[in-house]
Amino acid sequence: MSVPLVTGGEVTYAALDYAASAPALQRVWDDVAAYAPYYGSVHRGAGYLSQLSTELFEQSRAAVAEFVGCGEGDQVVFTRATTDSLNLLSAALPTGTRVYVFESEHHASLLPWRGHDVTYLDAPRSPEQAVATLESALHGAPRGPKLVCVTGASNVTGEVWPVRELARAAHRHGARIVLDAAQLAPHRPVRIGELEVDWVAFSGHKLYAPFGAGVLAGRADWLREAEPYLAGGGASRKVARRDDGGVDVEWHTNAARHEAGSPNVIGAYALASACRALTEAGFARLVAREEELLEKLRAGLAAVPEVSVLALFGDEADRVGVLSFVVDGWNSSHFAAALSAEYGIGVRDGLFCAHPLLRTLLGQEDDAPGECGAPDAEPGERSLNAVRVSFGAGT
Ligand code: PLP
Repeated sequence: MSVPLVTGGEVTYAALDYAASAPALQRVWDDVAAYAPYYGSVHRGAGYLSQLSTELFEQSRAAVAEFVGCGEGDQVVFTRATTDSLNLLSAALPTGTRVYVFESEHHASLLPWRGHDVTYLDAPRSPEQAVATLESALHGAPRGPKLVCVTGASNVTGEVWPVRELARAAHRHGARIVLDAAQLAPHRPVRIGELEVDWVAFSGHKLYAPFGAGVLAGRADWLREAEPYLAGGGASRKVARRDDGGVDVEWHTNAARHEAGSPNVIGAYALASACRALTEAGFARLVAREEELLEKLRAGLAAVPEVSVLALFGDEADRVGVLSFVVDGWNSSHFAAALSAEYGIGVRDGLFCAHPLLRTLLGQEDDAPGECGAPDAEPGERSLNAVRVSFGAGT
């Protein structure tokens, strides 16, 4: 692509950091621009703009519900992004819920479960081992509510996880499962029914929409019974002073319960536009194109003996367009900086908010330096960071 420089002129630049944020589709910008002159604050506004925005906000919710195949008893809550969605679910878990999560997860899946009893599972070395590890952790687990949180595709290796098999294992043991689809949704269909999960969470900005909106979609029951994620207007149906001077609040029981405050209507609208665009483009076509690109990338990297591609599941694993590698004798930060400065290729370097996974993949001890303190590597040594290339066929 051609990128304007702040100093004037243009450079040709390959932006290969879609796993962080994918460029918004032109169609999404066009849809937002067409709606921009008309938008107003949603809910209860009697004016035309407010009515229109309320209608479009709810239509956006319906479009996302369609995208993930919501069934009866499911709902779509608009959030800020995947991190927010998983924190919302954590806040809504019934008291005493035990949470099971693989240590290889992105921190957004690993960390929101504060206050719950969490079992961290070892990173598996194959999809089969992932299922077996979960089975054995759930086997004999105490009675009571349980939640499994798994990624659909790794933001480090791009490997696709055996979501349906994990969901079946979770359900066999009476646990529910939430899918962190931040990396899967831009590349593959994330249909709740087909994957047999209870919830999916994903972010608009990784799905070719702009920043600021995300989704938690799935079972409504725990969410309906939970305290509102944020307390305030929009979430409350009725508020009245009590005789004793306090306040009684009747909260909404639908998605609005967890969407207090003025919602990000434009964000939701843009996210829904991206969902429609991907559906129309067709995932089969997107996957085929992405596989071609991935094949080229892998062949190119395989020709460089100093490069080691990071993988949990091995070369044969199903992958989305996300791939990380280290280069013998190079600190990954320097390598990534050189790719940008000398070749106009924008990638990402670091530990990708998945520190335990990077330590496992790079065979480093827990007290090895973190993201900022990575030492220069000597030939034959590895620094605790990697280079990540990520792309998608949506644009
Ligand atoms: N989960 C995975 C697998 C991710 O890759 C990311 C972001 O990179 C997140 C969750 C968090 O997404 P967000 O920053 O949009 O909340």
